[in-house]
Amino acid sequence: MGKKDVILIIDDSRLNRKALIDILAGEYEILQAANGKEGLEILDREGENIAAIILDLIMPIMNGYEFLKEFKAQVKYDNLPVVVTTAADGLEDERKCLKLGVSDFIPKSFDRDIIRFRIMNVIRQSKRQTLEFDPLTKLYNQQKFYMEVETLLKRYSEETFIFMRIDVERFKMINSFYGTKEGDRLICYMADIIHHQMRHVERCVYGRITADIFAVCFPYNMALAEDIANFMEESLKHHKAHYYLEPSIGIYVIEDNSMEISTIYDRVTIAAKESKGSYRCAYTMYTHEMEEQMIREQEIINEMEHALNHSQFTVFYQPQFDAETKKPCGAEALVRWIKPDGSMVSPGDFIPVFEKNGFIIQLDMFVWEMVCKYLRKRLDEGKKVDAVSVNVSRVNLYNPGFVETVTELVQKYRIPVKYFHLEITESAFIDNMVILKKILTELQNRGFTILMDDFGSGYSSLNVLKNIDVDVLKIDMGFLPKSRDDVRSEKILAAVINMAKDLDIPSIAEGVEEKEQYDLLKELGCTVIQGYYFGRPMPEKEYAALCDRS
Ligand code: C2E
Ligand code: CA
Ligand code: CA
Repeated sequence: MGKKDVILIIDDSRLNRKALIDILAGEYEILQAANGKEGLEILDREGENIAAIILDLIMPIMNGYEFLKEFKAQVKYDNLPVVVTTAADGLEDERKCLKLGVSDFIPKSFDRDIIRFRIMNVIRQSKRQTLEFDPLTKLYNQQKFYMEVETLLKRYSEETFIFMRIDVERFKMINSFYGTKEGDRLICYMADIIHHQMRHVERCVYGRITADIFAVCFPYNMALAEDIANFMEESLKHHKAHYYLEPSIGIYVIEDNSMEISTIYDRVTIAAKESKGSYRCAYTMYTHEMEEQMIREQEIINEMEHALNHSQFTVFYQPQFDAETKKPCGAEALVRWIKPDGSMVSPGDFIPVFEKNGFIIQLDMFVWEMVCKYLRKRLDEGKKVDAVSVNVSRVNLYNPGFVETVTELVQKYRIPVKYFHLEITESAFIDNMVILKKILTELQNRGFTILMDDFGSGYSSLNVLKNIDVDVLKIDMGFLPKSRDDVRSEKILAAVINMAKDLDIPSIAEGVEEKEQYDLLKELGCTVIQGYYFGRPMPEKEYAALCDRS
């Protein structure tokens, strides 16, 4: 046999306690408290071990009702049964107690069998329920929650419901930096917030799905959904000062109450993922476009290995021109995905996906190698060689072998480093300035030229420029004036170009499409021009021919 179940008796009368102990001590281990306050203290210490509480109503210091209110406010005790001892004429008491969630009553006459059976029953009942509750937070576990949602949606089949999914961004980091105990504390904190907000909402079900993920389902009410989201966001800010916690919240308005719960959950998960890293809003609503986008991304992922092994990726070169002489002076290598049917997938579609799943490291390597091969060929043929700049994904910057990999690559093809330039997008600098500065200095020491790509597109361009010595500034196309009377853009562009001059570094303007734009850039003293006006990205052969002609 296992350990005896523990019963807590809260009663100010020593005689009553003794009578109960006489009846129960054979089967149970007994703890005693003389009033509600003592009872709460014992619960604080022994709560997890207690199987049932026998409670008297009228006591000094803290009576039974006051005790029940405090006790029921803590979600972790939701499933701990309370049996109240009542006087013969206690109908009104019983009514009040039932409202407060009391499980059963025993008459103060203390009949031996009645007491034993009632206690046995409530404990058995609560043990069965325990299987439906998550042991850490005492909320419904996933299985029970799904079942309850299904019942709810069926019963109110005509009504529209909202399904919310709530978790914390970077929860894994909390676990690994501060320990699982701290992680558990955060999970319980969230459970309490949800419980407090939802317990009075009618036709509402909530539970813990897994780890730090919670879900809530309630009748359509966007104002309530927003309140929940905002309150969660606020509360997380106050949880602990030394790390910044942000919720990620997805909302799905259930379109058809007969849908599989797992499908509903998938949809809300898509929305929640979308909300990650968005600083604007506490929550994100599911849309069908999100799902289509996800399917497209999945298709890209399914095809990428095959595409790389079957030469569907190729490198285009976009020539760059000296602003003064209009002569070609270099190129940017841009990857292209050409499918067997001749259609082209835009880098804007697949690069972000590859950055997410890490495949970009392989793809960047492929592009760099193609560029090295091209440069080697030109050198071997004794033809004119201009520098080619390649794009370096931010993911590569976290790759510890990055500097070695590039160095080995150019050595393998015996390419003088002055021909192999590296473009790093401005926004990557903000991620981690300290690490990046180290990497870039190392690369520069080895002779590589570093271009800051998309300069001006981020939030702290000047700050980055202040901290990092880049060799070339690539001005984001957003700075180019769209029309003649776009005076503001013109002034800002002039300031950016002058700043590059003051820093004594060349500037490259991208996305130059019009003659007026070129004229202006030349007048302002921009060094190099890249854009459709002079040349689109083109296949290697075409680019080589263009170099030969110049
Ligand atoms: P980016 O590095 O800013 O590249 C410039 C983009 O502007 C290229 O788009 C280019 O085709 C386009 N462009 C050039 N001239 C003009 C113009 O006059 N007007 C307009 N509207 N656009 C112009 P693309 O090739 O679609 O590449 C998009 C982005 O994908 C690139 O932006 C870059 O961030 C990324 N990317 C491309 N190739 C690679 C690669 O090999 N590796 C990595 N990591 N990223 C790449
Ligand atoms: Ca670029
Ligand atoms: Ca760019």
